Amino acid sequence: MTTTITRRSFLAGSVLLSIEGTLLAQQPAPTSAGVADPALIENLVAAYRILAQQGVLDGFGHVSARHNRAANRFIMSRSLAPELVTAADLIEFDFEGNPVDAKGRALYSERFIHGEIYRARPDVRAVVHNHAPSLIPFSVTTVPLRPMYHMASFIGNGVPIFDIRKSFGMTDMLVSDSAKGKALAQVLADKNCVLMRGHGVAVVGPTIQHAVGRSIYLEVNARVQSQAMALGGNITYLDPQEAQKMMDAGENRGYERPWELWKAKATGK
Ligand SMILES: [Zn+2]
Repeated sequence: MTTTITRRSFLAGSVLLSIEGTLLAQQPAPTSAGVADPALIENLVAAYRILAQQGVLDGFGHVSARHNRAANRFIMSRSLAPELVTAADLIEFDFEGNPVDAKGRALYSERFIHGEIYRARPDVRAVVHNHAPSLIPFSVTTVPLRPMYHMASFIGNGVPIFDIRKSFGMTDMLVSDSAKGKALAQVLADKNCVLMRGHGVAVVGPTIQHAVGRSIYLEVNARVQSQAMALGGNITYLDPQEAQKMMDAGENRGYERPWELWKAKATGK
């Protein structure tokens, strides 16, 4: 409490506290960084729909983008099935997962994945969280997910696994507060994605297009790897040096060509 808080506002805050039973009621909402770039909003809406159409997201999962006007704000949908998201559903958040103005709408309980990754990784401008079934086997076995083909060069430096049980014991498996988000971001470290044991994955990128493209090809790569392993025999994975050379040459050409196609199919634009 500071001296700038009047007795009246203090009492009002206290009443809210007793009704809500939470300190959140006393925290003022963060101020907005301003109106986001319309192109960013359009691409973020497209990202939700593309990822649903490509079978990466179903009724669950989400994608966010860092605000173009402020490095400490990100934008994501209210709690909603991805394929239904429109620009009107997007909400601005601070790193603690507080909405600027939720207008009373429900929020994704795992928004802390996004806030804590943006805080830890200044290079990241988009984050995808999904539960693609093809990825789950690699999160619960000792078989590492590895790059099978040229489209998956972005995992040439490895895919770490976050096991929520290691730091938090028995949980409901959800990254539903800042402490869990921080722990996830720590395991992600400087990589492009982190598997979440018995849950899913978080994928990051320097653009929305990269985060979406990586999510799509990561899911394909997992299927291809499972198929190759089922055939038996030795598998020749991409060598880390081959993967690095592809990254140096420009990872999948910035996903520009498929993005145009995915966006047109998902949004008609
Ligand atoms: Zn989840």
